[in-house]
Amino acid sequence: MELIVQKFGGTSLSDAQSRGYVLRHIIREFKLGKRVVVVVSAMGRSGEPYATDSLLELVRSNGNALPGRERDMLLSCGELISATVLCSLLHAEGISAVALTGGQAGILTDDHYGSARILEIQCERMLRHLAEHQVVIVTGFQGMTRSGEITTLGRGGSDTSATALGAALKAGVVDIYTDVDGILTADPRWVSNARPLKTVSYEEISNMAHNGAKVIHPRAVEVAMKAGIPVRVRSTFSEGEGTLVTHAELLKSQGVWYDKTVTGLAHVRDVTQLAVTQVEGPADLQLRIFRAMASHAISVDFINVMPTGVHYTVSGHDASKAVALLRELGFEPRVRERCAKVSVIGGGMNGEPGVMAVIVEALTNSGIPILQSADSNTTIWVLISEEGLATALQALHTAFGLHLAPDRGH
Ligand code: ASP
Ligand code: MG
Repeated sequence: MELIVQKFGGTSLSDAQSRGYVLRHIIREFKLGKRVVVVVSAMGRSGEPYATDSLLELVRSNGNALPGRERDMLLSCGELISATVLCSLLHAEGISAVALTGGQAGILTDDHYGSARILEIQCERMLRHLAEHQVVIVTGFQGMTRSGEITTLGRGGSDTSATALGAALKAGVVDIYTDVDGILTADPRWVSNARPLKTVSYEEISNMAHNGAKVIHPRAVEVAMKAGIPVRVRSTFSEGEGTLVTHAELLKSQGVWYDKTVTGLAHVRDVTQLAVTQVEGPADLQLRIFRAMASHAISVDFINVMPTGVHYTVSGHDASKAVALLRELGFEPRVRERCAKVSVIGGGMNGEPGVMAVIVEALTNSGIPILQSADSNTTIWVLISEEGLATALQALHTAFGLHLAPDRGH
């Protein structure tokens, strides 16, 4: 019997109406005779009573004075509520279901409270319930240490719970249900004619997720990729198929890999560019700068080292600390605040000439200077001023024909 993992995010569970849609998706698969494992997030968004942020709010007035262990106990409550409420809805429909905490489901983690890593998943109990034709509902985002303490996996961790369970249970597919119709060619709040993609490769979606696209947690993609489990990102509120995420080779062999070089765009805002120049000379400038950043846990990006100096970026909230450190070292950096990192992503660009030319042309024609760039075999990044972000994204989207070309798989 095929096994499917279905994960429902906070907005899919926030009210009775949305939970009605959730129920339909579960019952549909169950009635097809599949073994169904459901992973839930906490209900709703920040401000709504049982959302993870709202739980955190309860201790904020005490200056967050709560040890990691107890903080994880608090954080785990949101998913517990979702799981039990969903269980009751299924029972009301005459479907037998069981709700399990991460620990009860056999998800064993290390003891890094707040960002625990899954060490192992012991599936026996879940398999037993599934064999008894029960829907198994597992609280996302949490696990248990070997000594029985509750842990959480880091914000957004229920996606990882879902793909990790999919891998351990050898699921046919992991469906990530959310409030959008799959993975889009760009963020629709910035690009009005962004379109849902039929298929993307693990690598492409991982790049998108690492570069600011919020649709799935990058760690969840990595877990699925390692196990080779297909993932579908789809909407709770429609019957659409969403986006299939799998190995590029598989997509190619099935003839659903189109020949476009670029698949989508992603972006990150509030980036600060720092430039330190020197007359060509001793190389210890580089060493001193990057050592200082590292020892203060400042993550650096867009790193460009030249004999005449270094250029790099830090996120906006690290900027003043980074500048202060540089000044302490006796440097006077040129600081450019409020930049945006735009990622042009596509598994098809590897070895294809002309991709950068299209980017440069689109941005030049829109009057947007490129402040820095970097590239890998599947992504080209450009740093621009945040003011130009909307124009740049729209121009790049059009230049690569992302608004009109048929999606893969058509
Ligand atoms: N509820 C958790 C969070 O808000 C986990 C998740 O939703 O993925 O981070
Ligand atoms: Mg989430």
